[in-house]
Amino acid sequence: MQTTAQDAPTKANQVTHLESLDPATGEVIGRFEATPPENLPLIVERAREAQKKWAARPLRERCALLRRLRDVLFARRAEIAEVVTRESGKPRIEALFSDVTVAIDTAGHYARCAPRLLRPERVPHHNLAVKAKSAWLEYEPYGVIGIISPWNYPFAIPVGEIVPAVVAGNAVVLKPSELTPWCGALVGEIFEQAGFPRDLVQVVQGGGEVGAALVDARPDKIIFTGSVVTGRRVAEACARHLIPSVLELGGKDAMIVLADADLDVASSAAVWGSFTNCGQACVSVERIYVERGVAEKFTDLCVAKTQRLKLGHGLDADTEVGPMIRESQVARVEEQLRDARARGARVLSGGQRRADLGPCFFEPTLVTGVDHSMRLMQEETFGPVLAISAVENAGEAVRLANDSEFGLAASVWTRDTRRGKGIASRLKSGAVMVNDALSYFGICEAPHGGRGASGWGHTHSRLGLMELVQVKYVDVDRLARWPKSWWFGYDQELSVAADAFLEAMFAPGWRRRLASLRGALKTVFRGHRI
Ligand code: NDP
Repeated sequence: MQTTAQDAPTKANQVTHLESLDPATGEVIGRFEATPPENLPLIVERAREAQKKWAARPLRERCALLRRLRDVLFARRAEIAEVVTRESGKPRIEALFSDVTVAIDTAGHYARCAPRLLRPERVPHHNLAVKAKSAWLEYEPYGVIGIISPWNYPFAIPVGEIVPAVVAGNAVVLKPSELTPWCGALVGEIFEQAGFPRDLVQVVQGGGEVGAALVDARPDKIIFTGSVVTGRRVAEACARHLIPSVLELGGKDAMIVLADADLDVASSAAVWGSFTNCGQACVSVERIYVERGVAEKFTDLCVAKTQRLKLGHGLDADTEVGPMIRESQVARVEEQLRDARARGARVLSGGQRRADLGPCFFEPTLVTGVDHSMRLMQEETFGPVLAISAVENAGEAVRLANDSEFGLAASVWTRDTRRGKGIASRLKSGAVMVNDALSYFGICEAPHGGRGASGWGHTHSRLGLMELVQVKYVDVDRLARWPKSWWFGYDQELSVAADAFLEAMFAPGWRRRLASLRGALKTVFRGHRI
């Protein structure tokens, strides 16, 4: 069994089980054994043993297992989507398009590309003095990767990170969110079914204390996805242990709508980008800056489209917006809205709880009259609220979009793609999409990672794979029997020759360089006394 490890006795006051709740109804839909935090050192140790054998297996065998994984994911896609929906609340269609698609595609992608991406890479040398060397970079696994993941994409995020970790030759200990233990258990079960070796992918269940114990058990790297507050704690703990980390944290993504944009398309994108997963995506559109000339028309379209959205249980086929994950998140959104209203914002649509539907339902909400003094425009909302602000021009839109501690993703909407590209290059953001939003998260080749408070490092793509390997520079000297010019045996003659060498290498003009060549060669052809 490579899922939850339960070997050590539990203490009397420890949480022994986690309850999985359906956020739409508040019903308990499953119970999962919690991992005692004191078991983490043993679990990481077992992962270390499994990793040694795994890394020794040829890459093509590791890729073959990824193909098996892809097939298992595909065969079980309906079940995965149902579990994701029941536990996270998102509509089943979104579970299919996001969690399931990303997982299957990632497995297939790295199975295909890992041999090319992990192949040793030659390092050519420009300097004459080292021309006799041949060198290359080798990519070696770290060992054990600790992955700590959130509840909002409880399948796509961990699988998207485990797959590149294992193909690179690492073992993984995954700590899913305590709000989505069923998804976490399913991840472990599916890797096991695909035939990954025992203890290579282990899932530990529990709350923050289990995450903290995972870091303290000193895996070789931590890939953390979650809030800024927890990310800071994790980074501090990693620093104490000198463990490197990738931090995928929150966002406050801006959408810039220029006057020449197709307003019908842009408004559909705005409404979907804000309310998909009930606004609980790190790359949700949270702020819109629209040029004043089209602001009214654009806003009216957004209001009309928002009001047509169907709220309900994610398993109902026509549900477009499900519940938020917990009542505490709803309260946080209400708090931001209260602050925004008190400072003059106007709610054009929504703004209320829908207790008639369930404990965590909140109406998709559209707000205007906002400014950056409001918490709504500065803090991550992580809920179904879209704030629209009219701006004079693109310059003001860029300035406001960049006025945030976050820098995860952004989008620009215009018919003039050249202008869109120009604006993209001025945005302080890990990713910018022109005439699309969010979807880059599902593109295997697209690196995902933020700036500022949105974190550091990358997941997905070649860059995400490179986070999971240690780079080794290997250098082979072809003149093995030749002592080097710079070795001991220092004297006046070498001092003069060294200067000639610098002349030959760096002096302005080829005549001067050529003239020094003979003197420079004395650094090579000399007697080494030592
Ligand atoms: P949290 O930061 O609350 O939790 C993230 C994970 O960390 C959970 O598994 C949590 O466990 C665990 N954890 C909590 N305390 C500790 C600790 N002291 N040490 C180690 N691990 C700990 O985030 P949420 O789960 O609420 O997720 C929402 C946040 O994630 C949002 O801010 C969102 O923007 C961000 N996010 C970022 C993404 C990105 O790629 N940039 C993608 C998706 C989400 P438990 O849940 O059991 O308490």
